[in-house]
Amino acid sequence: MSEVPESAIDAKGLVKRFGDTTVLNGVDLTVTPGEVVAVIGPSGSGKSTLLRCLAGLEAIDGGTLTVAGITAGAKPPLARALKGRVGFVFQGFNLFPHRTALDNVAEGLIVVRGEAPAAARDKARALLTKVGLAHRVDAYPRELSGGQQQRCAIARALAMDPQVILFDEPTSALDPELVGEVLTVIRDLAAEKRTMVIVTHQMDFARDVADRTLFMDDGVIIEQGPSAEVLGSPKEERTRRFLSKVS
Ligand code: ADP
Ligand code: MG
Repeated sequence: MSEVPESAIDAKGLVKRFGDTTVLNGVDLTVTPGEVVAVIGPSGSGKSTLLRCLAGLEAIDGGTLTVAGITAGAKPPLARALKGRVGFVFQGFNLFPHRTALDNVAEGLIVVRGEAPAAARDKARALLTKVGLAHRVDAYPRELSGGQQQRCAIARALAMDPQVILFDEPTSALDPELVGEVLTVIRDLAAEKRTMVIVTHQMDFARDVADRTLFMDDGVIIEQGPSAEVLGSPKEERTRRFLSKVS
């Protein structure tokens, strides 16, 4: 094993443009191993783009970025180098529709890690048990509720034992009564000291689970600090205005 790096994520002056539009305009973000960071902000402020840059899914246009010990060059995207080191949980679950829950979780272990299918499935079964889906391992995504699908997606991300897990509004596509079961799983991961960055609209959850919360607007971080401070007594007027609208 190599030594534990000081930061799981280190972004300085991150810039991302789409054509003439600057979507990230100098984002500085450091996340230490074991830290849970919540990202809040209005729609269109660049939250998803930030996560996609951190996951190596987008090439960056300026600044420096090191994630899980891998430093981004200008191009191509980091994704290949980061494969398995960074997990991504999307709003829309993104499971393979024609594979069972078990095979969705085992897939990366077999294809990316080259593990033997039997061993990969054993590991997948254990992870599905961990997220409360032991009884659903043979179900296809369409046979699962949204909450179950998202828990399966989390198990799939965990299978690679990533150094960082990124969540992009993991409960936004769920019926209200299914939100809690997904948040419980994420809360358990926080208790295990998993390094996570979570874009969320659930302010209570952010306050409860995230060590730090950052508020983004217009492609920059307006304010960040301990979650209770940013959410409870924000310093910036823009943060206050946003919070008064969402809560
Ligand atoms: P958020 O997640 O905070 O709602 P996004 O990161 O999705 O914000 O989007 C920020 C801005 O970037 C928006 O104006 C959006 O239209 C734009 N954008 C995002 N992805 C692309 C893309 N692939 N091509 C062009 N514009 C994009
Ligand atoms: Mg988004």
